[in-house]
Amino acid sequence: MNEFDLIRRYFADHGVRRDDVPLGIGDDAALLIPPPGQSLAVTVDTLHSGVHFAPDIPPTDLGYKALAVNLSDLAAMGAEPAWATLALSLPQADEAWLAAFAEGFFVLAECYNVQLVGGDTTRGPLSVTLQLQGFVPRQKALIRSGARPGDHVFVTGSLGDAGAGLAIAQGRWGFAGPLADFLLTRLHRPTPRVGAGLALRGLATAAIDISDGLAQDLGHILTASGVGAVLNIDHLPLSDALLASGIDRPWRLAVSAGDDYELCFTVPADADLSVSGGLDCPVTRIGRITAEPGQRWQDAAGVPCEPPAHGWDHFAGGGA
Ligand code: ADP
Ligand code: MG
Repeated sequence: MNEFDLIRRYFADHGVRRDDVPLGIGDDAALLIPPPGQSLAVTVDTLHSGVHFAPDIPPTDLGYKALAVNLSDLAAMGAEPAWATLALSLPQADEAWLAAFAEGFFVLAECYNVQLVGGDTTRGPLSVTLQLQGFVPRQKALIRSGARPGDHVFVTGSLGDAGAGLAIAQGRWGFAGPLADFLLTRLHRPTPRVGAGLALRGLATAAIDISDGLAQDLGHILTASGVGAVLNIDHLPLSDALLASGIDRPWRLAVSAGDDYELCFTVPADADLSVSGGLDCPVTRIGRITAEPGQRWQDAAGVPCEPPAHGWDHFAGGGA
């Protein structure tokens, strides 16, 4: 089967059809109609085999995750997802692989009304580049630079699950059963917080999605905003599965491990998070913004705690 047959069979005429796409897959370029008065939010991510995912990852999970990580970026902007383009580099035309990849992709695309409008297919080492576009009303985007002293710092969902899942997947942590499966699912199939991002428009002063670990990603908000933060490790939301995993001091994973794709955001201290219909996922207050720069981590008693630089550090030397 040649490249064109493959595209037709697995990517054209699949999934949602949007009214704002007069011409999708099949021509030299897609034609799209952006809504008047809104900004176009555009993001792209490349996933390389052996770097961003294990070569033996189930292709359904890869199709899902390639879209999920981009949806997470749009969520962090408060943007509504709309259109995707997909550049695939494949070592060979493996039909079973493509069918599974497309299945994972379109399952998630359907959930968020995303239409695949074009892409590129080439022969080469396995890699996936996905570009995603969405809309956000002008002046309503959630940018990184708006945090102010006194703001409260929140995160969605639970943290550290994907880091624990990675350790389990790589055989660095022995833990099995349904709770281990939950941690692995959090790694392979993160839930992009699109609904939360939309609900935070006009409410959050700054937002970012947590792909590289809370401390690092919150650091981007603090730097962009010219502020610092005091954070409480005893307030970090940890899942039952992470707590049951037996991993020592799981808060360290919650602070430093990546791949959770939760949102970290700041709101004024008097903000009411129940307005605009509320958020569609749990959120937890973990600290507050200070005028003094830097991050100060402490426990509930106010004792300073030093988070590890990377999630990896947690497992080095037997979880020191
Ligand atoms: P061109 O040579 O003009 O760039 P291609 O032959 O690369 O066109 O692609 C033909 C059509 O198929 C285009 O509409 C392109 O966007 C689409 N396409 C190619 N690869 C993919 C892919 N992996 N996913 C979605 N659409 C694709
Ligand atoms: Mg062309």
